[in-house]
Amino acid sequence: MDDMRLALLLNAVSPAIGGVLVRGEKGTAKSTTVRALAAVLPPVDVVPGCRFACDPAAPDPACPDGPHETTAPDQTRPARLVELPVGASEDRVVGALDLERALTEGVKAFEPGLLAAANRGVLYVDEVNLLHDHLVDLLLDAAALGTAYVEREGVSVRHAARFLLVGTMNPEEGELRPQLLDRFGLTVEVAAPRDPAERAEVVRRRFAHDADPTGFAVQWAADESALAARIATARARLPYVVLSDTALRQVTAVCAAFDVDGLRADIVTARAAIAHAAWSGRESVSEDDVRTAARLALPHRRRRNPFDAPGLDDETLDQALSDARADDPEDDGPDGNGGGSPPPLGGPGGGGGAQEPSDGEASVPKAPETAPRGEGGGRTDAAPAPDRAAVAPSDPFRVQRLEVPGIGAGAAGRRSRARSERGRVVGSTRSSGTLTRLHLTDTVLAAAPHQVARGRRGPGLDLRPEDLRQTTLEGREGNLVLFVVDASGSMGSRARMSAVKGAVLSLLLDAYQRRDKVGLITFRGSAAEVALPPTWSVEAAAARLTELPTGGRTPLAAGLLRAHELLRVERVRDPRRRPLLVLVTDGRATGARGGSQLSDSYAAAGLIATAGTASVVVDCESGPVRLGLAGAVGAHLGARTVRLEDLAADSLVATVRSARKAA
Ligand SMILES: [Zn+2]
Repeated sequence: MDDMRLALLLNAVSPAIGGVLVRGEKGTAKSTTVRALAAVLPPVDVVPGCRFACDPAAPDPACPDGPHETTAPDQTRPARLVELPVGASEDRVVGALDLERALTEGVKAFEPGLLAAANRGVLYVDEVNLLHDHLVDLLLDAAALGTAYVEREGVSVRHAARFLLVGTMNPEEGELRPQLLDRFGLTVEVAAPRDPAERAEVVRRRFAHDADPTGFAVQWAADESALAARIATARARLPYVVLSDTALRQVTAVCAAFDVDGLRADIVTARAAIAHAAWSGRESVSEDDVRTAARLALPHRRRRNPFDAPGLDDETLDQALSDARADDPEDDGPDGNGGGSPPPLGGPGGGGGAQEPSDGEASVPKAPETAPRGEGGGRTDAAPAPDRAAVAPSDPFRVQRLEVPGIGAGAAGRRSRARSERGRVVGSTRSSGTLTRLHLTDTVLAAAPHQVARGRRGPGLDLRPEDLRQTTLEGREGNLVLFVVDASGSMGSRARMSAVKGAVLSLLLDAYQRRDKVGLITFRGSAAEVALPPTWSVEAAAARLTELPTGGRTPLAAGLLRAHELLRVERVRDPRRRPLLVLVTDGRATGARGGSQLSDSYAAAGLIATAGTASVVVDCESGPVRLGLAGAVGAHLGARTVRLEDLAADSLVATVRSARKAA
């Protein structure tokens, strides 16, 4: 059985494992497989009419639709699969309290959200990596606690929300933050099968379905009911499966060998191993159960850097398992010295704990070589030299925040100011549509002048719907950060180019943290090139940047025109996402005949400024004599110009400090 189906089934047997994250490219039938899961889950008994799917045997005492009469007849229905669309609002997910009715009619009206619908079923999020962090947090909290909680202006509702959380994502479109990754119980990687025989089987199945859909369905329904029965049996067996000390030691040894943080990994691995034993019809956990569990529970927990690929090395896994077995004092191996006296309470001398972390302290981002290797000066300008090995970027650092001026309305993120669902209060508007955040002061102020006219007597305010004021919040949005990078020979020595790449890499890391989309245009030699069209995948951008060849002339104007064109298309595609153009150059535009091309670049810069695109210029000029050409291009762009050396987040502080000292 493939990993994905196995991971889903283990969670169906033991929901405490904590859900599944499925990673894989497009066209790998991730969604189809998840949807098929609902068909094999055992049906659930529910209280008729309860919108929160209460179990008649144990109704939720806090159920908003309760209290339920115990005499009501039960109703059995299939387990539900609820899909959460990526664009869903917080209200849609957790449910909405009708504040308007609460304030004007004095009733507590709650419209359940997707978490309520998913109670005792499956909650499925396709493209979970594109969901806003805040919503992912909400989901994972609910999944961990088994309850959902909604509060608005002092009115609150709590209800049961126990569900199997399944997320799918295409890593090419950007990674999930490591903190969130860690909170999914299991992860699996799916790929289209490479094996011709397997591919043939997929095609054959497809043909069988097209030729005889009914017969096909009947055949698969038979398989489904067999699976459903097996899940039910495994669930019943689960509480009786024994996790021996040996098996537990193997779990902890494997987790130690892969250098995972915290104890969550050990707990999830143990739970998955127990579920696998139950699924396989065993009464106690075997080494095979631990191996399978580790393969599903650990790969995403040992990641250190957003640019590292996940994975688990089979050799290390086998080694850890066999070491833990060999260290086992109770194991009556051929040596036969296990039987005698019981082991001391402290455990066998360093049994599981003495595992060496296999590949050292790999936590720091890859340390690239920065040595210029005796490449003299920056004399490559004249010759459109053949590409040598690409220069590696220097170490990334924390950069200051570059932002788009003004106030946007784009998707939530951490870069530029924007009207948003969260953030600080900046005012109020007359409520139109659903009232979600009441601005109390402004509502009272709006209602106050009409109290006499409305005939109010006694205490309390007579509120009408037209008085209600919605709070306006300002938070931050993510942007499209388009890097336009000068890779020409004028940019100097290898060491200089390494520093430039390191700066762009740092800006990319920053974009990842701020939830931006990124794109990369480079220019050198005779042309500009879109090295990476706008994407969520900062990993892809970092890879392109590292491979980027350098040298040759500086077609700055071509680079800017290419950027202008690309942004024009993006504006149509995603109008709410405001772009930020980051031009990384020394500004020495040179043309085909080696002549200066400054006026062309200024004209191109003017076009971008006229289109209203915000930009920042990172000035890479170095050396004792400075021409300030980048600053001149910046002026035509209407951009702020930052010197490469001043890009780091703390350089501002340093500047202020040294200025103070001087004063
Ligand atoms: Zn209920």
